[in-house]
Amino acid sequence: MSLAHGRPYLAIPGPSVVPDRVLREMHRPSPNIYAGELIDMMPGIVRDLKAVARTAHDVAVYIGNGHAAWEAALANAVAPGDRVLLLATGRFATSWGLLAKRMGIDVETIDFGLRSPIDPARVSEVLEADREHRIKAVLAVQSDTATSILSDIAAVRSAMDAAAHPALLMVDCIACLACDRMEMDAWGVDLIVAASQKGLMTPPGLGFVYFNERARQVQASLERVSPYWDWRPRTRPEGFYEYFSGTAPTHHLYGLRASLDMLLDEGIEAVWTRHDRLARAVWAAFEAWSARGSIELNVADERCRSRAVTSIRIAPPYGTRLREWLETRAGVTLGIGLGMAEPTDLAWHGFFRVAHMGHVNAHMVMGVLGTIQAGLDALGVERGDGGLDAAAAVISEA
Ligand SMILES: *Cc1c(COP(=O)(O)O)cnc(C)c1O
Repeated sequence: MSLAHGRPYLAIPGPSVVPDRVLREMHRPSPNIYAGELIDMMPGIVRDLKAVARTAHDVAVYIGNGHAAWEAALANAVAPGDRVLLLATGRFATSWGLLAKRMGIDVETIDFGLRSPIDPARVSEVLEADREHRIKAVLAVQSDTATSILSDIAAVRSAMDAAAHPALLMVDCIACLACDRMEMDAWGVDLIVAASQKGLMTPPGLGFVYFNERARQVQASLERVSPYWDWRPRTRPEGFYEYFSGTAPTHHLYGLRASLDMLLDEGIEAVWTRHDRLARAVWAAFEAWSARGSIELNVADERCRSRAVTSIRIAPPYGTRLREWLETRAGVTLGIGLGMAEPTDLAWHGFFRVAHMGHVNAHMVMGVLGTIQAGLDALGVERGDGGLDAAAAVISEA
């Protein structure tokens, strides 16, 4: 029978759970966009967005999703015909590269596969071989949401420095900003792409491009920048409308204000630590279950696992059947496998993902894991014992 009637839980890696406080702030009459509170709120939103990414530089806000921010970043920092080096660790990196190609950018890719992080040594090799400095930017995804691989961004910067290469370091943090540690300035990241609907706990609709002085100088040297994506007016507005090149995302700004308050009240270090402990609880459960049968964490080395999402391999078709069981019987929706196999292939049904990004706490994680165990048993999937005990131990030790 179905035990799904209660508060549903969307545990997919974006959109993430929207806190009631964010929803309440959005539930209001349209505010005036010419004077008053909304205009006065904006400098504080910019300040706090910068605190979340640990940067003293600039952030441009776009009405759009992650794809919009991807395009905005490239439109400001790379000219058509320029070459970029894409470091691929899953579907999201690959998609950013395809978008770049369609913008006329020459994309050279190092593919690290679907189970390993970026290898900085290979990045150095390619950059050292590029004596003429034809590569203008290195594109990396910190946590690839498809594979749940976390790459060491500070190590990528070191590799670029070791090669004495001047390319910009551009990082997609859409999945993991405010989940996995990000120190934009300390790590020497030149540009970050982010969006509202994952760690930032606000509905989809806002994209963010953070950029430093080096990226600003590159933009200033470009022959032409699309007027809508141009980050100059958005970061140095002469009137409020210039922040958004038109009407402001009124209600999203109220939601974002509430989410930034929640993150900064908790403290960004505490937010990262919470994500770390909850992710470890998830990993502990799957490690125990994977002792027997066909369940397996996609990323073997825990140092290379995202704290925002965990990708799981399981004998097909049990990935799909487990997701269906949880949604219809338990009120929990898990993420599909993305970019791991063709949808027409039986193997496609051998993956699922558990999100633990944003507004997530211990009881939600234990609830997801408990219902996954129930689902595995209902479907007769062979598994190791002790998964829930292992997860509870991680949480009790925290
Ligand atoms: C979600 C996500 C995207 C795409 O964001 P959209 O809002 O769906 O356009 C890109 N990169 C990463 C790492 C993501 O997690």
